[in-house]
Amino acid sequence: MSQSVRTRPEGSGQALSAAYDTALLDLDGVVYAGGDAIAHAVESLAIARSSGMHLAYVTNNALRTPDAVAGHLTELGIPTGAGDVITSAQAVARLISEQVPQGARVLVVGGEGLRVALRERGLEPVESADDDPAAVAQGYGGPELTWGRFAEACYAVARGVPWFASNTDLTIPSGRGIAPGNGAAVEVVRIATGAEPQVAGKPLPPMHRETILRTGAGRPLVVGDRLDTDIEGAFNGGVDSLLVLTGVTDGAQLLAAPPEHRPTYVDADLRGLLTGQPDVTPKGDGFGCGGWTATAGADRLELVGEGEALDGLRALCAAAWTAAGEGSCELDGGKALARLGL
Ligand SMILES: [Mg+2]
Repeated sequence: MSQSVRTRPEGSGQALSAAYDTALLDLDGVVYAGGDAIAHAVESLAIARSSGMHLAYVTNNALRTPDAVAGHLTELGIPTGAGDVITSAQAVARLISEQVPQGARVLVVGGEGLRVALRERGLEPVESADDDPAAVAQGYGGPELTWGRFAEACYAVARGVPWFASNTDLTIPSGRGIAPGNGAAVEVVRIATGAEPQVAGKPLPPMHRETILRTGAGRPLVVGDRLDTDIEGAFNGGVDSLLVLTGVTDGAQLLAAPPEHRPTYVDADLRGLLTGQPDVTPKGDGFGCGGWTATAGADRLELVGEGEALDGLRALCAAAWTAAGEGSCELDGGKALARLGL
């Protein structure tokens, strides 16, 4: 896809909830963390929805069914129907269904979300390489997934059965720390077989396609916390994006982002949906936003002024991304970010 290189966050005169018809929201680090709602998420989503914005939830996690995810969101105070939840299990099931005969058997290395998604596409989940599967589907299976199931996948994949992965996120956040994600499990099969899976999840096109097909979004806004899945997925789909700082991305990572990881907008949390976004404009040798001016020095980013921390970050993004062009900014932004408390 050809698009010009983004060198600064964009402004919006309208609230984002009015400027876009559908929010495609990531879950972990955006709406909830470790099962609990993130600050301001519940109220902000209620207001965005009442103002007419359609809310859909897009997750790379293939373990839980859309029903289970919708139930969890509703419990948190965010009323959600299963039809508004799109998972990488659904995206990979569609991808598989396009490449195998109707009703084919699929060896599942994963959880209930994957089985339900395969049945929804008319495919038959099976448990063993001896069940004559036409494909292998691998998705996050949680702590109950056994080593023996990886062996089943390897037997089938080594025979040449096509191998599909819901997503390749290497890690999954848990209340107790970082756990191995489906990407780590995919590595087990890859190392043992030398084969390569077809992958559906963010940031790859099958997931974006599934989301657009299921939501019918005309002018969607991707909302996420992760640069290499949410924001890159939006970039690959040619869709605008809002990065929120409630999850895994910090200011330094944002300033160093290469073009495909640069969001259209950045805000602290989901309250960003309810407001316009300030313009970032050239100012002197650098860029201004709110009361701040940021410039790229010889080896570090400089920031002067005062005001809202997020405006300072937006100005710094413009200075860093402009200096980096099509690469990643290597200037030290630590002192400037510390001034903003970011
Ligand atoms: Mg996330």
